[in-house]
Amino acid sequence: MLVVMKAQATPEEIQAVCEHIEQLGFRPHPLPGAQRTAIGITGNQGEVDRGNLEALPGVAEVIRVSKAYKLASRDVKEEDTIIRFTGSDAAIGGRELAVVAGPCSIESREQAFAIAEQVAAAGAQFFRGGAFKPRTSPYAFQGLGLDALKIMSEIREKFGLRIITEALDTESLEAVAEWADVIQIGARNMQNFSLLKKAGRLRKPVLVKRGLSATLEEFLMAAEYVMSEGNYEVILCERGVRTFADHTRNTLDLSIIPAVKRVSHLPILVDPSHGTGRRDSVLPMARAAVAAGADGVMVEVHNHPEVALSDGPQSIYPNQFSEMMGEIEHIAPVVLRRLPRGIRVDVAAG
Ligand code: PEP
Ligand code: MN
Repeated sequence: MLVVMKAQATPEEIQAVCEHIEQLGFRPHPLPGAQRTAIGITGNQGEVDRGNLEALPGVAEVIRVSKAYKLASRDVKEEDTIIRFTGSDAAIGGRELAVVAGPCSIESREQAFAIAEQVAAAGAQFFRGGAFKPRTSPYAFQGLGLDALKIMSEIREKFGLRIITEALDTESLEAVAEWADVIQIGARNMQNFSLLKKAGRLRKPVLVKRGLSATLEEFLMAAEYVMSEGNYEVILCERGVRTFADHTRNTLDLSIIPAVKRVSHLPILVDPSHGTGRRDSVLPMARAAVAAGADGVMVEVHNHPEVALSDGPQSIYPNQFSEMMGEIEHIAPVVLRRLPRGIRVDVAAG
């Protein structure tokens, strides 16, 4: 259910409606919009009696949301969600494209700093780097853990980049929430419902990567898990799904971008690195992602991919990253977007 407040409803009226919903034993989710506030109701197994709600001051109407996802739906919030970061111009969603770049894994301070310097110089606003790695083999590099988080926090200080990194489980979730700006939930954890709920209780943006074989509805339900706990800052990320195709690691499903935009207000990024698994495919698919209406891209960049401890074959070189930025800067205006290139650092001055 959804309570749509009148445009001129006062904060007190909104508050009174929320309290009424709580008294009924449900959870209110006030979501302010440009025109009016809508209050999503969750926790109800069946229909909520709309009569009393409709009679409350400031209420315009009470609507039944028919989709399985409620808070992630455009029915609840018409305008696109924009996630902003205090103390920075960086944003995810809206007119400006967000670019996330960095190595698959943080391997050392030197490696991370060298890459961060180059991606910042090329105009990335966000730095990615795995600290806790979900590896297919238990014998493969598992990440530097807390040390990697500390290195990335130094990177934020030095280059002004916002940090995105994966929380693999409930233990790493707390550390990631403490040190990073965005908590990434990986593809393999997209249906780890207890992890999603715990991330929903935190007040840090959460980036949810699409599961290896997730449908649109399953993808949005993962976002809904986070939102149902009161954290509405969710970013979706398409990273390819498993298909019969074997010319790429996964099949990057760019058709999910308009599908998400049609039904949800949440921003969606595209990760052409995991989506293709091939360095030579990353730039073309990053261009295509922007052209298709993605809110930004997330790419793996490595200064020495041939010796990378994870995902070397899909990591682009820093000069290729600069090339990609130049290309998407040209494409962006065609689709009424802009590449901000906000944080430029003077590399020569170090
Ligand atoms: C990653 O971004 O480092 C990663 C492991 O991605 P995914 O969960 O999409 O495989
Ligand atoms: Mn990777």
